[in-house]
Amino acid sequence: MKLNANYLNLKPSYLFSEIAHRLNAYCEAHPDNQLIRLGIGDVTLPLAPLVVEALREAASEQGKKESFHGYGPEQGYDFLRDAIRLYYEDRGVSLAMNEIFASDGAKSDTGNITDLFDKDNTILVPDPVYPVYVDTNLMDGRRVLYAAGTPENGFLPLPDENVTADIVYICSPNNPTGAVYTSEGLKAWVDYCVKHRSLLLFDAAYEAFVSDESLPRSIFEIEGARKCAIEFGSLSKTAGFTGTRCGYTIVPSELTFPVNGEEISVNSLWLRRQTTKFNGTSYIVQKGAAAAFSKEGMAECRKNIDYYRENANCIADTLKDHGIRFFGGINSPYIWFECPGGAESWEFFDIMLNRIEVVGTPGAGFGENGKNYFRLTSFNTHENTQEAMRRLAGLLSERS
Ligand SMILES: *Cc1c(COP(=O)(O)O)cnc(C)c1O
Repeated sequence: MKLNANYLNLKPSYLFSEIAHRLNAYCEAHPDNQLIRLGIGDVTLPLAPLVVEALREAASEQGKKESFHGYGPEQGYDFLRDAIRLYYEDRGVSLAMNEIFASDGAKSDTGNITDLFDKDNTILVPDPVYPVYVDTNLMDGRRVLYAAGTPENGFLPLPDENVTADIVYICSPNNPTGAVYTSEGLKAWVDYCVKHRSLLLFDAAYEAFVSDESLPRSIFEIEGARKCAIEFGSLSKTAGFTGTRCGYTIVPSELTFPVNGEEISVNSLWLRRQTTKFNGTSYIVQKGAAAAFSKEGMAECRKNIDYYRENANCIADTLKDHGIRFFGGINSPYIWFECPGGAESWEFFDIMLNRIEVVGTPGAGFGENGKNYFRLTSFNTHENTQEAMRRLAGLLSERS
């Protein structure tokens, strides 16, 4: 018996445990604290009423012999895949039903997709980055390269012709930076991948937060993407499904790569992978998800997104007022800003905690290029966000 020793190459993910540790220590020393948490990486508003109604109805169907559902199709029921198809159709992206695979979330899909790839591929991920892309590849022993996100490129790195990678990950709107690629930016990555016959893995988990109509929300809005890209989507942030669980993956039928000179369809490999290792998302959840993707359901979900956006605007305004350079917000639930006075992100974490009792996330936790940056999220209440910004404004005026 030999264990997968690649797991030993993973860096311990101490970001959230270290934050919890520092918070506990602070709360013990200051039992009457008034902490406000703007580090929350989870939604806080409840499911939309139409979604809850669909979940209830499906649960009661499961309780009757005539309407009981056992195993469903591994790729998801047609009613859900059709609802996803129409959601894309609405924005001018045509998908075939067999290109859509419903799942229990984007995290599992982004991890599971690596089953299809040889160990010998070189991976390119932006830095800072959502840690899942890196760790799932390190687990398989793949080489990982980084494309530097910097204030100069707006944390939206573009391809470098001197770097060759077989698989490229892009997340837009980005977690943690909130930065959103323009169509031109994404076109550069699509062109790079088509030219080098590389695969582009596009994480669209935050697409619903894009309010600027000129910005792309799907990689398939970009010409050529069907030849090189896979897209991951999720209802987690769009519809508050972080605890309900539903996502999807789009694998275009044109996407092929050669094996021994023969072009092999990635769609058929993913279908084979899913039908072998996955038994589908719960019928009840799929009913709730289909309700979220309906026009009326999505209109309800948008209200929550708009609520979060008001928080993002409040945070952005405070930073603007004090001349702090920031990225994200507006089209994203994340605001990523430069720590004032050139502070390191953990140092600034302690300043925020001790001076104003506001909790955020140190950028260092997302990569080398995050070490002087700080992430705040828009997932708290209006009242808490406004109070936190009042305190931050006080701190920033005092420092300047
Ligand atoms: C939250 C998030 C997801 C969603 O994951 P689920 O498994 O669908 O909850 C995907 N990608 C990124 C970058 C995220 O932050």
